[in-house]
Amino acid sequence: MIPPIRVRFAPSPTGSLHIGGIRTALFNYLFAKHYAGTFLVRIEDTDRERSEKRFEIEILESLKWLGLVWDEYPIRQSERLPFYRDAAARLVSAGLAYEEEGPAGKAVKFKMPETKIKFPDMVSGPIEFDASLFDDLVIIKSDGFPTYHFACVIDDHEMNISHVIRGADHISNTPRQIAIYEAFGWKAPEFAHLPLVFGIDGTLLSKRHGAVSLAEYRKEGYLPVGILNYLALLGWASGGSQELFTLQEIANLFSLEHVSQANARFDTEKLKWLNSEHIRKLSNDDFCARLKTYLQEYEPDGLRSDDGRLNKVMPLYKERIRTFREFMEQACFFFQDEISYDPKAVQQHFKGEETRKMLEEWTKILERDGNFEDPALLEALLRSSAEKLGVKAGLLIHPTRVAISGRSATPGLFETMVILGQNLVLKRLRYVVEYYDNFSENTSSLLRGEDTGGGEMSDSPQPDLPPQGGKGTEIGL
Ligand code: GLU
Repeated sequence: MIPPIRVRFAPSPTGSLHIGGIRTALFNYLFAKHYAGTFLVRIEDTDRERSEKRFEIEILESLKWLGLVWDEYPIRQSERLPFYRDAAARLVSAGLAYEEEGPAGKAVKFKMPETKIKFPDMVSGPIEFDASLFDDLVIIKSDGFPTYHFACVIDDHEMNISHVIRGADHISNTPRQIAIYEAFGWKAPEFAHLPLVFGIDGTLLSKRHGAVSLAEYRKEGYLPVGILNYLALLGWASGGSQELFTLQEIANLFSLEHVSQANARFDTEKLKWLNSEHIRKLSNDDFCARLKTYLQEYEPDGLRSDDGRLNKVMPLYKERIRTFREFMEQACFFFQDEISYDPKAVQQHFKGEETRKMLEEWTKILERDGNFEDPALLEALLRSSAEKLGVKAGLLIHPTRVAISGRSATPGLFETMVILGQNLVLKRLRYVVEYYDNFSENTSSLLRGEDTGGGEMSDSPQPDLPPQGGKGTEIGL
């Protein structure tokens, strides 16, 4: 009979949960779910200097946010010291370990056997180490705390762990731990070591590659399923061409045989793409609820507490953003008193005196005849006005878009105009008409590389342009 599957994720609370840790937790979770087994969490807090309660809290909260929920109450090693000391004493009595006096006090050391240790790795195949090359191993430190290797073996045994699934950086730890299982006469679990995660440049993933902690990805506005779907593909492949999966779908298909030995490469662009696909799959209500929660948490000052407008704007972006943060970048003009203008959009669409005149006429027409309740009527008005002015509709649409949003891409222009409302649309158009010449001067200097940001959007109004409120009038939202 196959023993029940029991796996564990065993983080050390010495830092935040990062990409590698999440991937390990995820693969354990998937393996447990696939075989209707049990997924456990064990807090390995035996390094007294480096372990911190706040990291433990953050790690557990992060796992919950991701939906990687454990099936039994988490074990904390610092609460189990007597078990480790008893177990070490048993090894000492059996002559398999010994006490050694050091400068900081007495430690217990395990006698490494002079044998070859072999194990079948479920990802890499058979692995052999010559244990005679290993030093004897401290198992209880002079502070009375167990070392990682010892506590890990005692707990994996007591928790009836059937499979240890962890990063390939632990491969050389495994023979040391197997030697301890053998000293107790215990059966060791199966081992599976996951390929390491590298950055896109081929070096081990680290801070240098940008965000690594989950906290940073949450701040970017990823969905849990976007992150998990992407991390599942870092090392595992379904065998087919499908890449977009729910967690349940991956759990159904998951097996360690499909985990590759090759190192995985973390590609943020692919993560963003998968995340955007998962965003599109959300219902409108779910999308808006999640986006709102995100904005409340991460952009509390970025938006006016104008719920009416926010509720109208959010659905327009479901198909347009890859992360929730991109909503703030793209839709900020709906909520700002002073918008900034993308220099490229300005250069492309505010061309020559003709355009200024045309915008001036169009502003007058809008003021007189614009019906800001209905996008279709605004569109009809724009088309008839363009005809009167003797230009193609596009020649009026694009500068209008840039004038009211600062950007060359927005949701449908007429819908955008309706949401902004007549006052704001007219105010922004008048501003552009009035300061039209400054735009071209500033833009050319910006495009000569004299802006500070160098990004697509400058984050404040261009320096030489007067405030958009102008002449003591406030722009009302
Ligand atoms: N606490 C160890 C780590 O965070 C666990 C390793 C293991 O899974 O055995 O790397």
